[in-house]
Amino acid sequence: MNADTSLQNAGIAHRASKRLGPLRYSFFEPSMNDRLMHHLHPREALRKAIANQEFELHYQPRIDLGASKFIGVEALPRWRRNDDELVCPHEFIRVAEDSGLIVPIGQWVPREAIRQSAEWQRRNGWTLMMAVNLSAVQFRGGGLGQEVLSLLAEQKPNPASLELELTESLLLEAESDILDAIALWKSRGIKISIDDFGAGGSSLVYIKRFQIGKIKLDQSFVSNVPTHEVDRVIVQSIIRMARDLNPRTIAEGVKDAGLPELLLSMGYDQARGYLYARPMSANELETWFKQYSSSQRTGSVP
Ligand code: C2E
Ligand code: CA
Ligand code: CA
Repeated sequence: MNADTSLQNAGIAHRASKRLGPLRYSFFEPSMNDRLMHHLHPREALRKAIANQEFELHYQPRIDLGASKFIGVEALPRWRRNDDELVCPHEFIRVAEDSGLIVPIGQWVPREAIRQSAEWQRRNGWTLMMAVNLSAVQFRGGGLGQEVLSLLAEQKPNPASLELELTESLLLEAESDILDAIALWKSRGIKISIDDFGAGGSSLVYIKRFQIGKIKLDQSFVSNVPTHEVDRVIVQSIIRMARDLNPRTIAEGVKDAGLPELLLSMGYDQARGYLYARPMSANELETWFKQYSSSQRTGSVP
């Protein structure tokens, strides 16, 4: 460490001690620098991570509430930073979108997800829905529609097992690139869903206009359902209206053991959340699946 870095470190420690309050004694820890570097140069750090291929894809199971059956996964990228730290998308997706780095990340995620989906179909005979998140930025340039079809042509999973998750704000933009891509995907049997439904100015008009197959209500609704009457009423009416227009409804962020039954009684079709499993690597998911299916056979709670 040279004089400059120790001075900088002293400054970091000083600011940290101020945050902790006047009576706290503070010393410099390398993790503080990491955190700060992360804030100072998030784009650079992310750019390096992409170049060094520090991303891995994790999968979170989706369960059919009526049959308690494992029916699909959502692919969620994780950044393995400094070998031992797993950084979740909520910490880096915004930076990636603002810097355009979502483009390389968003090319890799569907490629790896489709490859894994095809492998599971071939090797395990699994016909899972593979859900992949897409941001509006990825549609710029107009190549995305065809890119996804090329990935399917390379790996040859069943196209009907791919589900692309879009947000309402993305549909609101309704630019021709987006509309064309959606039309192309739907013509090939790829499924489209609306994520975080209810978080923004939700409108059932999109469901009709884009013939959306699934809506995922925002996690905040799900966690409030047992305790907040108003949320329960909102959810119930969204589900009822959605039913008439045909899409399935997915509850996300399901954490409590009593919740699936309540959600099922409210008309939800599917669920995902820590109650069943956290997002995990492909290998971990295979182990989880064995445990889950044997718990289903014995009737024990997963
Ligand atoms: P999302 O699509 O709503 O994904 C669900 C998020 O909720 C995931 O966070 C997941 O780890 C977390 N989650 C799952 N079950 C529970 C639960 O029971 N309780 C709680 N509190 N959280 C739960 P993650 O992986 O950090 O993803 C955050 C968001 O980043 C995603 O929200 C999605 O909007 C975006 N994102 C993730 N992957 C991608 C991607 O490949 N491309 C793009 N464009 N966006 C992505
Ligand atoms: Ca999602
Ligand atoms: Ca969501």
